[in-house]
Amino acid sequence: MFITLEGPDGSGKSTQIEAIKAFFEKKGEKVLITREPGGTPISEKIRTIILDRENKEMEPMTETMLYAAARAQHVAQVIRPALNEGIHVICDRFLDSSIAYQGYGRGLGDCVAVINAYAVQDCMPDLTFLLKLNPEIGRKRIDKEKQDRIEQESIDFHNRVFNGYEELELQFPDRIVGIDANQEIGEIREEILYHIERHLER
Ligand code: C5P
Repeated sequence: MFITLEGPDGSGKSTQIEAIKAFFEKKGEKVLITREPGGTPISEKIRTIILDRENKEMEPMTETMLYAAARAQHVAQVIRPALNEGIHVICDRFLDSSIAYQGYGRGLGDCVAVINAYAVQDCMPDLTFLLKLNPEIGRKRIDKEKQDRIEQESIDFHNRVFNGYEELELQFPDRIVGIDANQEIGEIREEILYHIERHLER
């Protein structure tokens, strides 16, 4: 199974990824945890360029293409081979992030999905969990000193991103499951695992 987690920064994606990993491992199944941007040596180098706070002059289209380039490498080198070997892949962010951040946040619109179709080919998640949290609350959980270039963007930007995520949730109801991330960690975990079990029974 290919599972992705999405949502604003500080919405608790990493905590839930560990819970999903434990769920599969308990069943004796192999799991690979990975993240975007990153997940391969080349993609991690691209991540450094994208998130560097010094790169203030980066054009939105450059940013979009760098994310897509990192993703193309990640899909080809890590995600697709693992899935072909029957390993479950859990990825912290994937192409929905690009549509939300660059498509809605930066205002680039539909071209983001088109560019990313080349990057992922047909390698799409089976399930995507969207951890829904007010971006302002998420941002408060991140140490200001440690904020990356994108986290430093205005609250208006982050609200546009969140709106983008909600549009995606409506557009792809079979794949994207919205979860209220204001709940307790344990409640969020139970909800996520319930949806995975339901998907496995299909
Ligand atoms: O989730 P993580 O903190 O690793 O993501 C790195 C940064 O890149 C975050 O600030 C996230 O909001 C941003 N991002 C983005 N566009 C994407 C993916 C991530 O702006 N397509």
